[in-house]
Amino acid sequence: MDVGIVGGGAAGMLAAATLAREGVRVELFEKNEKLGKKLYITGKGRCNLTNFCDMGTIFANIVHGEKFLRSAMYGFPPSEVMAYFEGLGVPLTVERGNRVFPTSGKSSDVIRALAKMIARLGVSIKLKSEVTKIESDGDGFKICTVEGKTHFDAVIIATGGASYPATGSTGDGYKFAAAFGHGVSEPRPALVALRTHEDISCLDGLHLKNVRLEAYREGKPIASEFGELEFISGEMSGPIALTVSSYVTRLDGITLKLDLKPALDEATLDKRLQREFAERHGQSAASAMRALLPEKLNTYLLRRAGVDPSKKVDILSKEERKAIICALKGLKFKLAGTAPFAEAIITSGGVSVDDLKPSGESKLQKGLYFVGETVDVDALTGGFNLQIAWATARLAALDILKSAGLEP
Ligand SMILES: Cc1cc2nc3c(=O)[nH]c(=O)nc-3n(C[C@H](O)[C@H](O)[C@H](O)COP(=O)(O)OP(=O)(O)OC[C@H]3O[C@@H](n4cnc5c(N)ncnc54)[C@H](O)[C@@H]3O)c2cc1C
Repeated sequence: MDVGIVGGGAAGMLAAATLAREGVRVELFEKNEKLGKKLYITGKGRCNLTNFCDMGTIFANIVHGEKFLRSAMYGFPPSEVMAYFEGLGVPLTVERGNRVFPTSGKSSDVIRALAKMIARLGVSIKLKSEVTKIESDGDGFKICTVEGKTHFDAVIIATGGASYPATGSTGDGYKFAAAFGHGVSEPRPALVALRTHEDISCLDGLHLKNVRLEAYREGKPIASEFGELEFISGEMSGPIALTVSSYVTRLDGITLKLDLKPALDEATLDKRLQREFAERHGQSAASAMRALLPEKLNTYLLRRAGVDPSKKVDILSKEERKAIICALKGLKFKLAGTAPFAEAIITSGGVSVDDLKPSGESKLQKGLYFVGETVDVDALTGGFNLQIAWATARLAALDILKSAGLEP
């Protein structure tokens, strides 16, 4: 049996290793000059390759496609992913939030271990081989590159999403899927900074801790995250903004609400403000609020609350104090969109799971599989997206082995 794999990233390499181990002839096409370019930059170069948690936590961290991913995740859970990589000679360490990294702290160790394994198993690795087209040829498929066309009995498309296109993931899988008639949900940047209609560039450089960011659509809550928020290049970034982005990237008409003091209710906050103002007789509102917020934010917040930041605290009206409290508990922004794919950690959207069996095999074209980020599934940060890549690749490869009577 001959299997062609398009894409030598996380999913492509793992699928290749799984098939070749059972004696299947595998050809792996990668458009770059080397394998795993995106893997190399994961986890800030350290590769957070999975999350050592229970299944409930895995599914709670999947934003789209949880049901579709069940078989893949149960088939290759984090504990087995970890055993697999340790078996390849990559010792692992579990860090804060159950994030799993190579103990060496080097993503290159993960790539090297996979690349070495597939080379040892005899996978034919075609680098600088961009696949331009995949055709059905009656009893299988033809993979087309500039070099020509090659026949395969089955094909796995592991071309990734559309984020960080410089790594080679330019959304080609969507094109291949559409050519066979599959639905493709519009790819959008996710785990990415948020853009607002309001100009927030004056807040650049601010790093807030213990704040809550909520997203609403037509008054209905869409997401609510507590933690750290950063303001960079006129955008909202940092962990909670990235998480919220995954829930809102496919929606329009989103309002963001920032609670700067989630631990205090309005009555407590009012008492606190009155105390601060009483102790700071003669000071401007902006400087009197320094004990509560960084100065940069105070000035912005007071303006948004309709209060002159230079106004002396002694002459602030009760209404003005109320407006300040209201802004502190729920500073509103209209979502204008997200930063582009070039800055997005993942893609939300892709090949419709409605057209795929749980194994990733197409319901429309027998022997054609889609795995990893090409599929319309995505998860939050913490190692869950690579867990998706490993698990979907493994299940597709096992399904091919099963249909060829080669099950391990
Ligand atoms: C900066 C950054 C940090 C990240 N950190 C983490 C992390 O720590 N943990 C985590 O879980 N996830 C992380 N991710 C997400 C994770 O990298 C991806 O979800 C994962 O790599 C997807 O694997 P994949 O195999 O589906 O696709 P990819 O890894 O994108 O691989 C696809 C491959 O296909 C090749 N290809 C594409 N089209 C063609 C074609 N036409 N012909 C031939 N080859 C082609 C590409 O060159 C590429 O090598 C991060 C992403 C980014 C951008």
